[in-house]
Amino acid sequence: GDEDLGFVAPHLRSVAPSRSEFRWADTTSYAAKKKLQSWFLLPNGNWELGKILSTSGTETVISLPEGKVLKVNTDSLLPANPDILDGVDDLMQLSYLNEPSVLYNLQHRYNQDMIYTKAGPVLVAINPFKEVPLYGNDYIDAYKRKSIESPHVYAITDTAIREMRRDEVNQSIIISGESGAGKTETAKIAMQYLAALGGGSGIEYEILKTNPILEAFGNAKTSRNDNSSRFGKLIEIHFSETGKISGAKIQTFLLEKSRVVQCAEGERSYHIFYQLCAGAPPALREKLDLKSAYEYKYLKQSNCYSITGVDDAEQFRIVVEALDIVHVSKEDQESVFAMLAAVLWMGNVSFTVTDNENHVEAVADEGLTNVAKLIGCDVGDLKQALSTRKMRVGNDNIIQKLTLSQAIDTRDALAKSIYACLFDWLVEQINKSLAVGKRRTGRSISILDIYGFESFDRNSFEQFCINYANERLQQHFNRHLFKLEQEEYIQDGIDWNRVDFEDNQDCLNLFEKKPLGLLSLLDEESTFPNGTDLTFANKLKQHLNSNSCFRGERGKAFSVCHYAGEVMYDTTGFLEKNRDLLHLDSIQLLSSCTCHLPQIFASNMLTQSEKPVVGPLYKSGGADSQKLSVATKFKGQLFQLMQRLETTTPHFIRCIKPNNFQSPGNYDQGLVLQQLRCCGVLEVVRISRSGFPTRMSHQKFARRYGFLLLEGVASQDPLSVSVAILHQFNILPEMYQVGYTKLFFRTGQIGVLEDTRNHT
Ligand code: ATP
Ligand code: MG
Repeated sequence: GDEDLGFVAPHLRSVAPSRSEFRWADTTSYAAKKKLQSWFLLPNGNWELGKILSTSGTETVISLPEGKVLKVNTDSLLPANPDILDGVDDLMQLSYLNEPSVLYNLQHRYNQDMIYTKAGPVLVAINPFKEVPLYGNDYIDAYKRKSIESPHVYAITDTAIREMRRDEVNQSIIISGESGAGKTETAKIAMQYLAALGGGSGIEYEILKTNPILEAFGNAKTSRNDNSSRFGKLIEIHFSETGKISGAKIQTFLLEKSRVVQCAEGERSYHIFYQLCAGAPPALREKLDLKSAYEYKYLKQSNCYSITGVDDAEQFRIVVEALDIVHVSKEDQESVFAMLAAVLWMGNVSFTVTDNENHVEAVADEGLTNVAKLIGCDVGDLKQALSTRKMRVGNDNIIQKLTLSQAIDTRDALAKSIYACLFDWLVEQINKSLAVGKRRTGRSISILDIYGFESFDRNSFEQFCINYANERLQQHFNRHLFKLEQEEYIQDGIDWNRVDFEDNQDCLNLFEKKPLGLLSLLDEESTFPNGTDLTFANKLKQHLNSNSCFRGERGKAFSVCHYAGEVMYDTTGFLEKNRDLLHLDSIQLLSSCTCHLPQIFASNMLTQSEKPVVGPLYKSGGADSQKLSVATKFKGQLFQLMQRLETTTPHFIRCIKPNNFQSPGNYDQGLVLQQLRCCGVLEVVRISRSGFPTRMSHQKFARRYGFLLLEGVASQDPLSVSVAILHQFNILPEMYQVGYTKLFFRTGQIGVLEDTRNHT
């Protein structure tokens, strides 16, 4: 029978069996008849293993552990795998691939610190939240010599290196998963392996040192992860013809800059601020007028200064050492710290009301004077830039005073810009230091550590961009995995009708279509002076309601049917975040500064030569400084990324967070299941298996089941024995294929043989 091969949109929050599970009903009744073990869904959402005592078609009596006996609907049971399949290291080997079986298998392994499991071509990594004895030189050597076979980041990285050499094709390791799932740690583990195998020139040491730098400037404590990356990262590691690492290049995506000026209770801003405050040596402290973190309003607002188990002062030392190693000069380092101090002092700039129309003026206090000193501008100019805005009305230049909220926005925008530019500049410096040089003849392995699909109670512009990126990556994932799978069948000469998988093109179109797609409409509305989040939301509803992936919601909200589930977005703040407005006054101020890094601002803000998409933002001053909207820039980066990935052989790692408490030994089935559904792992295994997922060489098959034969076979060659077994067990012709070297089975078939074998 043909199986339904469509994707089933996973339900994000529910743990009830998805509808796709019901196709397993047949195997359940088989299991029921044979009185095998089955999974039973408890009211608390967890699955429990029970033994079937009797069955009368629709009703089954099952005994659960602790002696409970229940009469249940047969359809509510799912078959469990025979014991020999407990903890298999590839989910493809499971005879019954249902959610409880997968969950149980992963948990069985996790309990023994086996945090890695293959899901067909994908590596699943479950965060142990503790040190596990799986890393280091001995393990690296073992994987290099191939004396260990169990799934591991080292193994997948080793495959990447081998395939790079063998096929002379660039490789990529694509790591995804939600916040706190372990992506960044996994990326570092892969880098370690690459450095160990491709080391020698010394550059590998520099490459490893980019991690503490980028983490200091781009990671922060959030409610979900004490070391959460607030940017996406692609690192391309180049190899020379002799197989040695010759250099690297880092690209970053969409840094969350709002965190610099605003973060939630219990979270922190970027690590580097606390490290600087705690670890700067006395001379630097004095030079930058540094105070402790408590003195800065930007750091104070969230009421969280330290992270358990982390010594910020010590981290500062590590970052400085890393900066030395990647050749950021002491002079540049000091400028970087001065900019950081300027951002901190900026938050302390306060305003006072000057007239009865609520206009304000920046107060010439410690904050203002320190910022001016640190960035090298006149106090008066800074005060002016933070309190007024030059406007062009007709042919006249007028100066408009700001209200308190406008002034705060201007101040915060300036602080965010300085920080974001600093981050980009730092990445640029690192790239210069790691540059591959002229002789770029070798190959590369890229590692992508990018935010996974996000669905919160309230989803904003950031989730909108992140989920759009995930939609693109998912398409890459689908295309690649189904292609790969089908190629194997063709290679072994089996009769194979191509499986068309339902892709997520419709959802991508919803985002990308011009002129009536989410991104185009967002940009259009962002250019209208009178555009608001509400007019944007209304426009979406007006133009996109007929799209099956879109749904208008009440007020300013809308929903998108993503591959991983439906997400409702609140458009509040969309336009402002997309415009990412920095007023000309601020730009002019920054470019006039005598501080050491005016080129930072110059290269990032004033010379955007790409096609202007957001129109009138900077028109007033006449400077040619129109810039791309955030969404358009992000889309451009993403297209470039996808183009780059298309030319590589991908290797996928899906990281899973087993609990929300960052605690070891705690495996929350519902949470794991939700992630497995989100990242499409189950679908991949399922679709892979809907072909002929179980493979066994003719030899192995004949050896394992040959003794079950009731009649002798004329020829003892493995192929003939195998075929005789298949006939004797009446395995239907559509359930298997005989390849040149292997037998290919549909799901569940080996399970039947295995049960017979064990009961004989
Ligand atoms: P985010 O999206 O927030 O950046 P992430 O997926 O990058 O999250 P990590 O920062 O890599 O998550 O992992 C979170 C924490 O989990 C780490 O700080 C570490 O304590 C722990 N962890 C992750 N992987 C491992 C591992 N393989 N061994 C031990 N601990 C780990
Ligand atoms: Mg991370």
